[in-house]
Amino acid sequence: MVVILLGPPGVGKGTQGARLVDELGWVRIATGDLLRAARREGTELGRKAQEYMDAGDLVPDGLIVALVKEHLAGLGADTGVLFDGFPRTVPQAVALDAMLPELSRKVDGVLLFEAPSDVLFKRISGRRSSPEGRVYNIYFDPPADEGICDVTGSTLVHRADDEPETVERRLAVYEEQTAPLISYYDAAPTRVMRIEGDRPMADVQQAVRQELARQLDLTAGSR
Ligand code: AMP
Repeated sequence: MVVILLGPPGVGKGTQGARLVDELGWVRIATGDLLRAARREGTELGRKAQEYMDAGDLVPDGLIVALVKEHLAGLGADTGVLFDGFPRTVPQAVALDAMLPELSRKVDGVLLFEAPSDVLFKRISGRRSSPEGRVYNIYFDPPADEGICDVTGSTLVHRADDEPETVERRLAVYEEQTAPLISYYDAAPTRVMRIEGDRPMADVQQAVRQELARQLDLTAGSR
């Protein structure tokens, strides 16, 4: 099975995606995480992607498609795949549709997360994370001491692309380049499952489980 998480930055796809793959025993392919890792490792891809990411723009389709191909190729045929942050443009979706049949796969479903843009803005620009990967939000879930992780005492950092001006840009880029994917998948024989993302995390998680069970007959342990 292949399921895509679609939705604007800050809508909670990443959090839900991580939980889902834990429950289902699937693999999550999150292009944003892969690009950040490439930057940390100083690879050629990382260097090429840096400028676009820091500006809140999309990394060129060719680089992204090659990255995804490489990750998909290494997976067993019966491993479920959850895409998070990919595809982000119609050409990426077309490339995915072209590469999946070679692997005897297709896109089975799209989970579309939606939330008002003022909520998204606060969710992203307020995000602070510890080097160990714990994430806080200065508006919705602040640490007890400003700038310090409650658990490890590490200094919290603000991602360069979570700065307010960049967040505005990322939201605009979503509307211009990624939102057209909604009609792309609505027109395809793919299940598009709409999830209201502006709710407590547990409610969103419950809605995701219900939709997957109802539309794709997918419950924990399925492949
Ligand atoms: P994310 O963590 O998914 O918000 O991604 C962070 C940044 O990585 C984005 O703002 C883009 O610059 C870049 N990026 C991630 N995924 C893609 C993609 N599928 N296509 C183009 N750029 C991407």
